Amino acid sequence: MNSGSIAHPQSADEHRVSVLIAEDEESFIEALEVGLSHEGFEVTVARDGVEALRMFEEVKPDLILLDLMLPKLSGIDVCRSIRSSSSVPIIVVTAKGTEIDTVLALELGADDYVTKPFRLRELIARMRAVLRRAPHVDATTNADRGPLHAEGILEAGDVTVDIDQRRVFVRGAEVRLRRKEFDLLRILVENRGRVLTRDVLIDRVWGSDYIGDTKTLDVHIKRLRAQIEADPSDPKLITTVRGIGYRFAVPGRP
Ligand code: CA
Repeated sequence: MNSGSIAHPQSADEHRVSVLIAEDEESFIEALEVGLSHEGFEVTVARDGVEALRMFEEVKPDLILLDLMLPKLSGIDVCRSIRSSSSVPIIVVTAKGTEIDTVLALELGADDYVTKPFRLRELIARMRAVLRRAPHVDATTNADRGPLHAEGILEAGDVTVDIDQRRVFVRGAEVRLRRKEFDLLRILVENRGRVLTRDVLIDRVWGSDYIGDTKTLDVHIKRLRAQIEADPSDPKLITTVRGIGYRFAVPGRP
């Protein structure tokens, strides 16, 4: 892929990445429709939050650009609703002065955000980045798939991680994890029995150039425990190694 230029000529049979734009400002809609179509994206527009959820079901887009200030249903609610069933990449579009909403959207599982006004080139770079990180198969659209293959499966006692499908089963039931939660669990299970330092976990899950609140890791651990531990207040699978990091238990060993 030519990353130096943002022009990507399309042949007729090439798969086009479909983008759902949830946005109510006509000037933005017009600019995005023209700009993204020109870049080879297939663009669908929803002009309020309710329509966004409906179009999401209809179009099954590869990526969503989600304005937070939408009529009928806020972008936050749209994000929450989509994340309850899908790990489709979401880039939140925010206005200046809505930092709290931006943080909330990221906590709800949005992948990235851009602040208005933004440059098309910057937006497309972020879109390509989240698409690169996205799993090739959206685990949540494959709930009706048959039995698991033996390959790419990690088993650790109560927990089974299907790496290829990005699906997780705990005591026989599937749990739905956000992308970072899955990445974190995978690394912990792959290294079960070993203590992983906070730095290593942050590096591996968020990247070595991550500069953010280190509480992010604790928040994700907490969410993982809530999903996989029989008693999240007394975790037996993911244990805290005080002052160092976390360890995933080896089945049958304390
Ligand atoms: Ca708006």
